[in-house]
Amino acid sequence: MPDLLDYLKGQQLEMESALQKLVEAESPSKNKPLADQCGIVLKELFEEIVGGTAETIVKEEVGNQYRFTYGSGAEQILIIGHYDTVWDQGALPLRKEEGVLYGPGVFDMKGGLVIVLWALRALKHVGEEGKRKVVFLVTSDEEIGSAQSRGLIEEEAKKSALVLVPESSISTTGAVKTSRKGIGIFKISVRGKPVHAGINPWAGASAIDELVMQLAELKKLDNQEENISINIGTVSGGGRTNVVAAFAEADIDLRFRNTAQGERLKSVILNRTSFIEGTEVEVTGDINRYPMEQTDAVMELYQQLKEIAAGHGYELEHGNSGGASDGNLTAAIGIPTIDGLGPVGDGAHAENEHVILENLPYRSALLAELIKRHMN
Ligand SMILES: [Zn+2]
Repeated sequence: MPDLLDYLKGQQLEMESALQKLVEAESPSKNKPLADQCGIVLKELFEEIVGGTAETIVKEEVGNQYRFTYGSGAEQILIIGHYDTVWDQGALPLRKEEGVLYGPGVFDMKGGLVIVLWALRALKHVGEEGKRKVVFLVTSDEEIGSAQSRGLIEEEAKKSALVLVPESSISTTGAVKTSRKGIGIFKISVRGKPVHAGINPWAGASAIDELVMQLAELKKLDNQEENISINIGTVSGGGRTNVVAAFAEADIDLRFRNTAQGERLKSVILNRTSFIEGTEVEVTGDINRYPMEQTDAVMELYQQLKEIAAGHGYELEHGNSGGASDGNLTAAIGIPTIDGLGPVGDGAHAENEHVILENLPYRSALLAELIKRHMN
């Protein structure tokens, strides 16, 4: 069998230049005209490098999305990615220094997109096709919650035997992600009864006092041992120092490890009663993404990857991520999903965002061999 890794090592410079092109085409999630330009670069790369079917899914508010298909089997393997980034245009410069490429979205996750393109190219090069085709779905709103792609991702996942997610790997180690935490987003709003703070403050009811008590209570749910965190991200309210506050509110980010925890915490957070007579507490929000749990099927995929990596001369580790990705969506509907298959690097959403270039062929070969094992 022709060696996929050897072939890909010979493609390193082409991979680097494609990655540079994709990063130069900046693509903030909320700038549709700019993001669309990046989408076009990606589509052209797919057509040139892989050459399967490229279908454009036109979107009104965010960048257009793409369904690329390689192979012709009746069953499918799904790869999901996104080309949007958290970076505004011009916010982060692109630069290359001693085998490291820095730039907006290079690690999260344009490097991953390049890895997929070349994994498919390598499979094509060795003439590999099977009873399963590969669908590579690339969306444009992952960094803002995936509202414009969630339905599509879930629909494709339901048709798939497994889902591979080339999101950035665990920082610096290159470990793949076998589990991700779930996220809940909530807003707590309190209405009080405003009166003058000096004349008869006891006739009023302070929304701020109530909110403080509510938040102190909710903070008790935070539990490092169980991997549950409650972050109060914003607080606002009141208007004047000499008025008992009429209104106060706070935004809460909940992270949890498994679905049972998520359901229990959601119910505690949503069902609040006020401590102070005369105030009214209202909580809105929901679980945004369920966790990607470390199931046996996921660990089986990891074992296969570990074996492939060993064959390529290195050790591949796995771990948990506190952040969510679209992999959470596909795992939640029961499709075995493994994440963090993207490049080795560091600095997702941070100014030192970068990718180690010499690893690109290795990551691509890792993905290609895994796909090959599952195509038949
Ligand atoms: Zn990402």
